[in-house]
Amino acid sequence: MPIAQPKITPFFPPRRTLMGPGPSDVYPSVLAAGAKPTLGHLDPLFVGMMDEVKTLLQYAFQTKNEMTLAVSAPGSAGMEACFVNLLEPGEKVIVCRNGVFGERMRSNVERIGGIPVLVDDEWGKPVDVQKVADAIKANPDAKFLAFVHAETSTGARSDAKTLCTLAKQAGLLTIVDAVTSLGGIELRVDEWGIDAVYSGSQKCLSCVPGLSPLSFSPAAVDKLKARKTPVQSWFLDQTLVMAYWGTGNAAGGKRSYHHTAPVNALYALHESLRLLANEGLDNAWQRHAAMHELLRDGLEKMGIAFVVDAAHRLPQLNAIHIPDGVDDAAIRARLLNDYSLEIGAGLGALAGKAWRIGLMGYGARRENIALLLKALSDVL
Ligand SMILES: *Cc1c(COP(=O)(O)O)cnc(C)c1O
Repeated sequence: MPIAQPKITPFFPPRRTLMGPGPSDVYPSVLAAGAKPTLGHLDPLFVGMMDEVKTLLQYAFQTKNEMTLAVSAPGSAGMEACFVNLLEPGEKVIVCRNGVFGERMRSNVERIGGIPVLVDDEWGKPVDVQKVADAIKANPDAKFLAFVHAETSTGARSDAKTLCTLAKQAGLLTIVDAVTSLGGIELRVDEWGIDAVYSGSQKCLSCVPGLSPLSFSPAAVDKLKARKTPVQSWFLDQTLVMAYWGTGNAAGGKRSYHHTAPVNALYALHESLRLLANEGLDNAWQRHAAMHELLRDGLEKMGIAFVVDAAHRLPQLNAIHIPDGVDDAAIRARLLNDYSLEIGAGLGALAGKAWRIGLMGYGARRENIALLLKALSDVL
């Protein structure tokens, strides 16, 4: 008896307009880059491209950090890589929690056996600088301050520069989630004194999902090298990964196998970062701000209100109140089915109460805003 063969036809995804919290619309040339011939991951030509990815990531993060690379997994793995490499059991971390991702930071700290000291703020509010200053004062034994720069679950932007300044004054290392901020709003890793930062390929970089840009300052690398206990995660252990990316003097410029790099996804990242460098980082920040204003004006004309105060809004993630009496799921389904347009639902405290409209990377352009405003006014 032959083994029964499943009969499956090829998958043809429709063309959608992605205006949720990510993934965002991927640049056409980024999709095309991912379809180029696969090279061996130790092929000298591929290694040369990886060096360019590193240079481009240093530009995007505004850092000179030698240890700058992309983790071969989504943003959540970048988060985990920061905590699992830098934190040892028993160490104290001040964790700011004003949405979903701050809560995930707390969970990372606890799983490692660290001690989280929580600074809680309401969903939709930025991290309160005064509360952080108080927590630092009350916990002189804390080693790290961890917070989310751009809280994608609520659309709130926190003052990363001031928070990092407070941490530096107290001698703390900083761990910053820049998954949604990288490429969308001002982010200056070296100038602000960020020690460990991670992002994601699929938000304002408009690349395919599955990669997490990461950068460690020299102080973070020293902390990693001074560990008394081995990093619990083999895959995310950056002392091992460094030898593959050729970062750090341990590598001596030579590459050795750690895991098979996601070669084609890295072609895509190379192209998306190249586009960002071509546009210019400050121009990209400016474009996100301008597109946010256009969207805001249109939504306000429809009587729709924002969740976050104007002063702390993220241009790339617009959380809006669902109008009274409107069926959340039914409207999102109509946008998807009739307009091939995706927006995001509310999460956690905002579930059923808010929609999240992303204007990220390639998605932050006039035609997307025109489509969204037209579609929303049709279905409401
Ligand atoms: C999306 C996101 C993450 C997680 O990234 P994944 O690529 O989904 O794993 C973490 N933090 C923030 C702020 C995010 O927006």
